[in-house]
Amino acid sequence: MEKQVLDKLFVPYLSKADIHSAIEQMGQKINADYEGKKPLFIAILNGSFMFASDLFKQIEIPAEISFIKLASYKGTKSSGSVVTAIGLESDVFERDVIIVEDIVDTGKTLSEFLPQLMHQQPRSLKVCALLHKKEATKFPITIDYMGFEIPNLFVVGYGLDYNGYGRNIDQIMQIAE
Ligand code: 5GP
Repeated sequence: MEKQVLDKLFVPYLSKADIHSAIEQMGQKINADYEGKKPLFIAILNGSFMFASDLFKQIEIPAEISFIKLASYKGTKSSGSVVTAIGLESDVFERDVIIVEDIVDTGKTLSEFLPQLMHQQPRSLKVCALLHKKEATKFPITIDYMGFEIPNLFVVGYGLDYNGYGRNIDQIMQIAE
């Protein structure tokens, strides 16, 4: 059934069951790939809180999770905006790090954040994203674990918001065209 969030109408796109089975598969793959390791998951707030919670429940190997926010500042004219991580208390030095992101759109956020994290010399750094708008790519990012490739249309629900609202919807909905 369609849903109104603020002034926009959204239609069902990915059901609870779709999301659950994708996350189960991602979790199983991570469990296998990281056997014998103790990865550190770093989830990027706000959007990824539901995804991170459900994904982490699928993890059966010893693992830690930390939540961060990314704040973007206007840098100098030459460097454009600069992204800083708020709340990254865990030491990533020589850790196997898995970034948990709700959606990769243009790739800008991660293309700025990943190189910064690399400075802290993790042993490995991989990206896990529930959604990827491939057609919107401006900054190519390797997504190691991906739930769904989706068209370049705005989505809400399952943690994703429209102007702060709609995060509590238990499925992913697409803007009605
Ligand atoms: P990027 O830096 O890859 O262009 O954008 C990533 C961020 O943009 C995501 O973490 C998310 O916050 C926001 N975003 C991109 N597309 C959507 C969308 O369709 N719906 C929502 N709610 N947020 C989006």
